[in-house]
Amino acid sequence: MKPKNKILLIYTGGTIGMQKQPNSDILTPFDFENIRENIPELKLINQEIDTISFEHPLDSSNIRPEHWIKMAKIIERNYENYDGFVILHGSDTMAYTASALSFMLENLSKPVILTGSQLPIGDLRTDAKENIITSIEIAGSYENGSPIVPEVAIYFEFKLFRGNRATKLSTDEFNAFDSPNYNPLASSGVNLKFYKHRILPSSSGIFSISDQMNTNVLVLKIHPALTDVQLQTLLDMPNLEGVVLETYGAGNTFSYPWFLDIIHNAIQEKHIFFVNISQCQKGVISPYKYETGKKLMDLGVINGKDLTTEAALTKMMYLLSKNLSDKSFIKTMERPLKGEMNY
Ligand code: ASP
Repeated sequence: MKPKNKILLIYTGGTIGMQKQPNSDILTPFDFENIRENIPELKLINQEIDTISFEHPLDSSNIRPEHWIKMAKIIERNYENYDGFVILHGSDTMAYTASALSFMLENLSKPVILTGSQLPIGDLRTDAKENIITSIEIAGSYENGSPIVPEVAIYFEFKLFRGNRATKLSTDEFNAFDSPNYNPLASSGVNLKFYKHRILPSSSGIFSISDQMNTNVLVLKIHPALTDVQLQTLLDMPNLEGVVLETYGAGNTFSYPWFLDIIHNAIQEKHIFFVNISQCQKGVISPYKYETGKKLMDLGVINGKDLTTEAALTKMMYLLSKNLSDKSFIKTMERPLKGEMNY
């Protein structure tokens, strides 16, 4: 029998552990014992499993940057004692947390797998059991003494996605997640199949965490009815440092002078960074395809290439907290740090 690996299960909340309130259909988070009681199979897994639970489990819609820091600190405190980590988390903000942790956990060389479910663990048709059991198996999968997935990933409904490439696409299907610009890292059927050529190499540096995330950021989705007053009001917000600009198609926006002037002034006078990503789920920003995209680049807007909104926002928050020079902030935003972009 293979030696057991040690896995730390971190329970933060989410539908997975929720129960209906008495005399109502409203779901609220419940304590970890609820999960343990409903998965007797946990005892049968050939891994040693310890658990840590948030004292107040959260619906993940209530997750804030301080909770990412809390998760990162739990992993830091326990890093040496465990071979892998599984974070049980609501699906609503799972892609934000996975993206944030992918940057905050520096020099990661162990698996950190986030999972959750669409139906609570106590529900007869729950998807929670398979998601938890396979996530634990993935977190404990080692080959020649090295973990197969030494990165932050999301496991949901038979697929493992890179955390900072994933996004929630469905409110009610069991396969709620996808990573449209990067193929899955593994799939689960009768056997677990790892696509090793897609998995990040293990880091050889010393593990540490970044426990600062700059929150002076904004996501701004361009739409045809956006006015100059609305745009200016948003950009006049005190202390604003970074904007994720969700543009159309391959990175296009209005070429009206009022729009370009407001962005130009925000960059030059207020020193705000803008990163251009697409409202489309799939594909990359091609800023020189149309004049409308090129004008943004000429103003100094950063090319976000094929970043998800979740990855663009959290990467910006992470890098803004590092006090980099403008030049290295822009350079680092435009190249892959943790496999979050292709180019
Ligand atoms: N609202 C829930 C949450 O994100 C949904 C889920 O867990 O899937 O916590």
